[in-house]
Amino acid sequence: MICGCGQRMVGNGIRTQRITDWRGDTFVSAAAEVRRFRCGACGSTERLVSPDTESGFRMSRIAADRIIDRVIDKGITRSAADANLDSATVSRLVSSRTNAVLHDTERPRMARLDMVDGNMLCVSDIRTKEPVAVFAGCRDDRLVPWLSRPYPSVIVPDAFCAPQLLKLSATFKMAMSAQTVLDLVRPLLSRAAGKLPDITDTPHEVAANVSQVLGGADPIRQATTASVTSAGTPARHFMRLCGQLFDALSSRDADVGQNSVKLWRSACTGAWERVFASVIHFLDAFAALVFSHPVCLEPRFPAPKFELSTPANVLSLSLDRMRRLAPVTGLRPAGPRYALISH
Ligand SMILES: [Zn+2]
Repeated sequence: MICGCGQRMVGNGIRTQRITDWRGDTFVSAAAEVRRFRCGACGSTERLVSPDTESGFRMSRIAADRIIDRVIDKGITRSAADANLDSATVSRLVSSRTNAVLHDTERPRMARLDMVDGNMLCVSDIRTKEPVAVFAGCRDDRLVPWLSRPYPSVIVPDAFCAPQLLKLSATFKMAMSAQTVLDLVRPLLSRAAGKLPDITDTPHEVAANVSQVLGGADPIRQATTASVTSAGTPARHFMRLCGQLFDALSSRDADVGQNSVKLWRSACTGAWERVFASVIHFLDAFAALVFSHPVCLEPRFPAPKFELSTPANVLSLSLDRMRRLAPVTGLRPAGPRYALISH
């Protein structure tokens, strides 16, 4: 063995240590040989362990591979029992392997961020529509550094993570999909209708009908405008303003859309500014994300769903395994308990 300083290192003793190994399809406790070397010139020392061990763990690399495979299929607790290890060690192995996988995973240039299972954040590549990695929520320390290297991605948060990630608009180019903006605006418009009787002479019954129409799944258009409001009334004008905002947010051109939203905003004055207060507040707060990049016009694809609640790290490892196996089998491997069931 040659030292970093260029001199040959000399043997400095051999000892053995117990490790977990994988032999004959089972986990066994085995002796690993640790050979130590020392450089006579500079005093550096080296260790050579046989068989090859997982760095930072008393287990062979092959045993670590088998444990990770089991964790993806059966979870941490059962895998730890199978390998005769404690769960804490296996959790630590999962973290270590996940960090290595994240390090080697290519960052999507355009990344969609979806909240899944209420507390995990899934990063998907907008070009391939494939999920790439899963983090333990918006506050996972690894998220921002990961998305930033080797270049800052364009990030497209869903309606759930957009408010939590708003502060990142200084670091990343952020854009909300036009569809997400519409989804967020619709309930605000529905609630704004409820204010009509307070600010205008609109009867409560009419306001309730307008609110219901706006809260519905179908887009409001001429038919509903005519059927729930009378010509010349404030309620009719309210519907017209809502229609204009929908049209602006449905634009197929980012620049045109951004300008139309600004025009709508500046036309909302006087009593209408009070009626639409929550909508205006939303548009102001998220201005940096509305029609801010052509990616916001990309059609939306369904959010990833995972079969069972499981730690984000295990899901990242599972995605990595799918990526590695896909070129071999040409198919998504079936069966793993934590597999992606749709995306
Ligand atoms: Zn040396």
